[in-house]
Amino acid sequence: MTLNRPDITTQEVVEKILSRLAEASEPLPGHLELFRQVISAQSKVKPNISSSLPKLKEKASQRLAQNKPMLTFHEMEVEWTELQALFSQISELAKEYLKPTPGEIEELDSIAVGLDTLKEATQDWFGSGTIPQKGKAKKTKLSATTGSVIQASLYPWLVAYANELLPLAEKDTWHQRYCPVCGGSPDFAYLEKEYGERWLVCSRCDAHWYFYRLACPYCDNQEHKSLAFFTDDKGFYRLYVCEKCRRYIKAVDLRKTDDEVLIPLERVYTLDMDRQATEQNYTAEG
Ligand SMILES: [Zn+2]
Ligand SMILES: [Zn+2]
Repeated sequence: MTLNRPDITTQEVVEKILSRLAEASEPLPGHLELFRQVISAQSKVKPNISSSLPKLKEKASQRLAQNKPMLTFHEMEVEWTELQALFSQISELAKEYLKPTPGEIEELDSIAVGLDTLKEATQDWFGSGTIPQKGKAKKTKLSATTGSVIQASLYPWLVAYANELLPLAEKDTWHQRYCPVCGGSPDFAYLEKEYGERWLVCSRCDAHWYFYRLACPYCDNQEHKSLAFFTDDKGFYRLYVCEKCRRYIKAVDLRKTDDEVLIPLERVYTLDMDRQATEQNYTAEG
């Protein structure tokens, strides 16, 4: 990776995040404490994806040329019993910190109960969040809370694939509004240090890719008058909004800092921007 861009999430990045949170004043606010416990649990999982990689790498360039992501659900090599243990652990954290409704708790418990229910729900979540869709978009019946718990549970595997496959997607070959690795939507962006180019970050696997600054990453709108962004006082944070689809994406401008920026942590640091955007009737990815 070049110095102009943040590293994709590796064990080393996770350790830096944990040590940065350990330096912060105790006790951490609820949302950061939840995040700390989730990434600690995720970091104990060591996915072994080696037997699925050669085939995926072989198919990668053809898929990218057809604007298809490099990974599909059925090709993913997942240790389901490990995923189940992580799902149960993160479910308990979600119950403690996110105050889900009784119906949401029931849904989480009904999925955690067996490998079949977990596989089915994970496939549902993955398929409904994958762009482009074949035919009509599948809508998931799962609650947002369940979706977040599944995402957090599958994350160690998705990141492992992103680390292996992303180097195969050259900057010049992928400019879609979905992830070249898993087909997920972006939920964060950054302007890189050298030229201020905008790169999108996948909401599911943390892969990043170059995307035009003057286009909406959700609806492809390119009309300047309906695209805008707001910044904070220091100009480090940006909120890009689109008047056409009313969606927004948060971004950091790496030219405005000399510190190392840890993207997963920035997502959580910027929750107040989500609140502000929602108040202005903009919605997040998805
Ligand atoms: Zn992805
Ligand atoms: Zn848009």
